[in-house]
Amino acid sequence: MDPKYQREFVYDAEKRNAVLETIRKGFPLNVMYWAVNEDRTFEVLDGQQRTISFCQYVAGDFSINIDGHPMAFHNLTQPQKDQFLRYELMVYVCEGNERDKLDWFRTVNIAGVELTDQELRNAVYTGPWLTHAKSIFSKTNGPGYGLASKYATGSPIRQALLEKALKWKSGGEIDQYMSDHQHDQNANELWTYFQNIIWWVKQTFTTYRKEMKTVEWGPLYDRFKDEKFDTDELERRTVELFQDPDVTRRKGIYTYLLTGEERHLSIRQFDDREKRAAYERQYHRCAHGTRCRTPGNDDGQHVFEIDEMEGDHIRPWSKGGKTVTENCQMLCVPCNRYKSDL
Ligand SMILES: [Zn+2]
Repeated sequence: MDPKYQREFVYDAEKRNAVLETIRKGFPLNVMYWAVNEDRTFEVLDGQQRTISFCQYVAGDFSINIDGHPMAFHNLTQPQKDQFLRYELMVYVCEGNERDKLDWFRTVNIAGVELTDQELRNAVYTGPWLTHAKSIFSKTNGPGYGLASKYATGSPIRQALLEKALKWKSGGEIDQYMSDHQHDQNANELWTYFQNIIWWVKQTFTTYRKEMKTVEWGPLYDRFKDEKFDTDELERRTVELFQDPDVTRRKGIYTYLLTGEERHLSIRQFDDREKRAAYERQYHRCAHGTRCRTPGNDDGQHVFEIDEMEGDHIRPWSKGGKTVTENCQMLCVPCNRYKSDL
């Protein structure tokens, strides 16, 4: 019994008593799953809580109610004790290579064992590397959480922080990385890399803001760690962007500052009122009229329905244009596509 990949034991008294009642009456418990370790020992994948309930009862940790009387194990008659001790568990034992096990665990998981993806991986790639990695990333009082709780989402207990560190380190190939490093003596490589990321973030963006917690820092670190940034300038621009009402995705500010890619900010689009005003101002004509000229009208320009047109920033947001009525023009779809391709 090893709590390595199971959550902390949380089984309420009612469930616990139901397990013991099931055993006492000789009814079947659901099948349990054990994995075979490399050293030929077993680890309980599913069934740990039931097993602990049973063991604790036999050890005398608590009583159960039998015919209206609280009965600890030592209060039972010998036949009653035998009923417990000779109860047969149905155990399914899983063997195979690591990949087989992972597939197998995933299948079992779908069938009702509620383990996270990372808990499943931890069940497969056991060894000194994992033990060390978990001592860092999988405890609320561990150094990984201590360093990064403000810069990365994820609970250590359900292995989300370890998963995040692995995802960053492996570029998303977590299974492969764990497979490659399963037999390493320690997880120093992962830990060092993770610390470097967090230190880099702290040094680059000098003022903490809560949005930093949800940024995917790993890929940004990989791409920009060797660039020199004017951190005062970055901070000045951060302040500016946080005040900009057209920026609707604030956590994207950090990615935008590093990459210059505007899409991370989800710049606010013109709303119906603003588009309608521009549409009327243009007498239902396309503001460009370069892709959509049709002879016949006085000015040779096609008259559009409003839903055939799209709102466009006259002065682009990146050049200081705001998402306001005065900066809105309506373009037909071909003209707008043509403009964005320029
Ligand atoms: Zn047009």
